[in-house]
Order: sequence, then C-alpha cells, then structure tokens
Amino acid sequence: MNLVTSSKEKIETCDKCQEKFSRKWNKIIRKPSQINDLHYWTGGKEINGYRIVCRDCLKKLYKEETPDSLFFLLLKAKKPTFQNYLMSGILDKNDKVNLDLS
Ligand SMILES: [Zn+2]
Repeated sequence: MNLVTSSKEKIETCDKCQEKFSRKWNKIIRKPSQINDLHYWTGGKEINGYRIVCRDCLKKLYKEETPDSLFFLLLKAKKPTFQNYLMSGILDKNDKVNLDLS
C-alpha cells in the first residue's frame, strides 16, 4: 500500500524489513527518489526478491558478504554515486516513519 502524504514525500513499506519509510520525491525526474529502488542500482535486478528498500536496508544489502549482495550487483556506472552516498552519510539518515505518532 502506498500512501501519498504530500507532493514531497511518499510513505512506502520496505521490502526487506517491512517497516514504513519516507521516500523523497524527485522533482527533476517526477518520480519518487531512486535511491530506494534496487532496480536503479542494479540495472533492473532484484535482490532476494527485494526491490524497494529503506536506506538502512540498502546499506545492509551492500555490506552483506554474499554473492548476491548489492556490492556485487551494483552497476559499475553507479558505484561512484553509491559510494558517495555511503561516505557522505546520506544512507545513515533515518527515513523510518512511525505512523502512530503522526
Ligand atoms: Zn528496511
């Protein structure tokens, strides 16, 4: 279920941890931020059946030491972008939403 709370963000459920998180709206591409879409990073592949994941799980999928981790599936062309996000702390940002408090 996708709830649109405003034009600037979208509440989605993470395929991996099943928690709700806030997905930023990208005005330029007129789509929700691609940072949470594994298809964007892998060029159309899912990881363990996951496609839309929160930032925390994105980081975990990258650091997992399995042959199907994001580390190995990440497109070469996207590597600098991903590493930049990782290093700059963008992936450490808590995007979880507690709907009970809102
Ligand atoms: Zn998650």
